[in-house]
Amino acid sequence: MQEPFRAIWITRDEDKKQSVEVREVALDDLMEGDTVVEVEATTVNYKDGLAITGASPVVRRFPMVPGIDCAGTVVACESDRFQPGDRVILNGFGVGETHTGAFARYARLKSDWLIALPEALSPLQAMAVGTAGYTAMLCVMALENHGITPERGPVVVTGANGGVGTVAIALLARLGYEVVASTGRTNEADFLKGLGAAEIIHRDELSGPARPLAKERFAGGVDAAGSHTLANILSMTQYGGAVAACGLAQGMDLPGSVAPFILRGVSLLGVDSVNAPLALRRQAWARIVRDLDIKKLDALSTTIGFDGILDTARSILAGEVRGRVVVDMN
Ligand code: NDP
Repeated sequence: MQEPFRAIWITRDEDKKQSVEVREVALDDLMEGDTVVEVEATTVNYKDGLAITGASPVVRRFPMVPGIDCAGTVVACESDRFQPGDRVILNGFGVGETHTGAFARYARLKSDWLIALPEALSPLQAMAVGTAGYTAMLCVMALENHGITPERGPVVVTGANGGVGTVAIALLARLGYEVVASTGRTNEADFLKGLGAAEIIHRDELSGPARPLAKERFAGGVDAAGSHTLANILSMTQYGGAVAACGLAQGMDLPGSVAPFILRGVSLLGVDSVNAPLALRRQAWARIVRDLDIKKLDALSTTIGFDGILDTARSILAGEVRGRVVVDMN
């Protein structure tokens, strides 16, 4: 069996105060699973920031190794689904929340949670996409399934400089949509235009209390913010349009009105990546390979080592991270 290896380790004391440290662990310190994966790449998502800082009760079992996604190589598998040497991707399924996760050299996981790494992607590229990018793809697919084609009009993306936002912009632009990027960092306008945004708006335009109905501006939206932002874009969505909602960067509430639904036939499409079925995951990853410009992926991601995870977790909650942060574990 493997030598002890480094992991990020979250504990909670009797007063429910959470602490985080880097420590050496053994495989037996990890939770049960039929597959051991050597983690080659992982990434710091917003949810990892919440888990590491304890800003929100994301971690529900202690001790916990955070890290909700990874790409790596199977070392051992008790089921016949994978062989040693197979390269796999994991996104979600409560890993890093209720099951020990990806911020360690090895992860012990359930084979039912894993999908094969597409041949066209390296582990680092897959994690440059990561859960945020795969969620962006799920949002785009939800809009497509609702019939929101590029001809219908502009699509707004909120949290534009974040992980979901940057990948959503790159995907939508490549698919021919006119993308309106909403951001608090308008100084990043050139970067967002480089990803394919046609127009940049300041997020303050969307962050105050929403009117029941506003001028119809967008055929659709990908929303990473929730709260007033989501209420506002619903009120600005054209007749028959749809908004894919996946995030809560502004807040978990939805202080709006039913007017867009009952007077304009607008649809609110909920997107969850954590428990999405395997077939949908495979479809989303195949679409990422087909529809995401790898050059844009390089532009929107930065790479750090294991030692940079804790600082990045704090920065992502402070809204200081642009695009995606990949962790090279090699
Ligand atoms: P990031 O932190 O990378 O991006 C979030 C972005 O939201 C920020 O970069 C910022 O963009 C914007 N933002 C921050 N604070 C506010 C605010 N108060 N009001 C409006 N916008 C704000 O996170 P991710 O992109 O990884 O995730 C985005 C959201 O999606 C998170 O809430 C996350 O939990 C959720 N998520 C949900 C998933 C699911 O399965 N449903 C999966 C993955 C993520 P800017 O600076 O451009 O304004």
